[in-house]
Amino acid sequence: MGSLWITGIGPGGPAYMTPQAVEAITRADTLCGYTVYIELVRKALGDRLRKNLTILTTPMRQELERCRLAMEAAAAGSDVAMVCGGDAGIYGMAGPLLAMADDYPDVQIEIIPGLTAAVAGAAVLGAPLMNDFCVISLSDLMTPWQVIEKRLRAAAAGDFCICIYNPMSSRRREHLAKACRILMEEQSPDTPCGWVRNIGRPGQESRLLTLGMLAMEEVDMFTTVFIGNSRTRFRGPYMVTGRGYEDKAQD
Ligand code: SAH
Repeated sequence: MGSLWITGIGPGGPAYMTPQAVEAITRADTLCGYTVYIELVRKALGDRLRKNLTILTTPMRQELERCRLAMEAAAAGSDVAMVCGGDAGIYGMAGPLLAMADDYPDVQIEIIPGLTAAVAGAAVLGAPLMNDFCVISLSDLMTPWQVIEKRLRAAAAGDFCICIYNPMSSRRREHLAKACRILMEEQSPDTPCGWVRNIGRPGQESRLLTLGMLAMEEVDMFTTVFIGNSRTRFRGPYMVTGRGYEDKAQD
């Protein structure tokens, strides 16, 4: 029986990959994952990868087949690294893989954490997630839109900072604007916000803007969006959420 290393590779280049992830990927004799991530790993680790490496990949949207392929290979004796962007347990493959793990009791599974887009993107914009925050995906492929709306309203009511994944795609151009309008029922249109595109990859770009402006912004699926709370301020080139030190200083 082989091993299955469910590996988060971080948002982009090798600098964002943990040594633990690099070790799993360079020890594996089989790499499995979405083509884009396999290419990222190939570029990042090149000749450190095994020479006779087997690559198992399926097109986007065929995630379950990809998981099954990885499990079958490990059950047949291979050491498999399933690579996921960011962290594998955050909108990644760790969930579906573990859900089928009962069918493969002899496969040794290890989950290797990765730097998720929320953390890497926040560092580009300043310190937007200094206090309580939540992460909400605007993709309604697997979560009904009504549930997403409910979560947005709850986050606004709780004055959470919000990090938005999957903000928009060509099929769902309206989602970010709709989300902003819901948040503005509770929050000021002047609330500091920002987005980061292609975090840690060539062509990384970012912008700070208000919630009112964000409602009219065009972003894409390679972007992570940050929405401040009532304590978030623009400070020079950064957005910073107050944590309470400021009030203490005034005591
Ligand atoms: N498992 C991934 C998230 C997958 S969901 C992680 O932990 O980061 C896909 C969404 O993640 C994208 O739509 C985008 O909102 C965000 N994302 C992932 N990588 C990104 C990157 N390099 N730059 C900007 N956003 C990214």
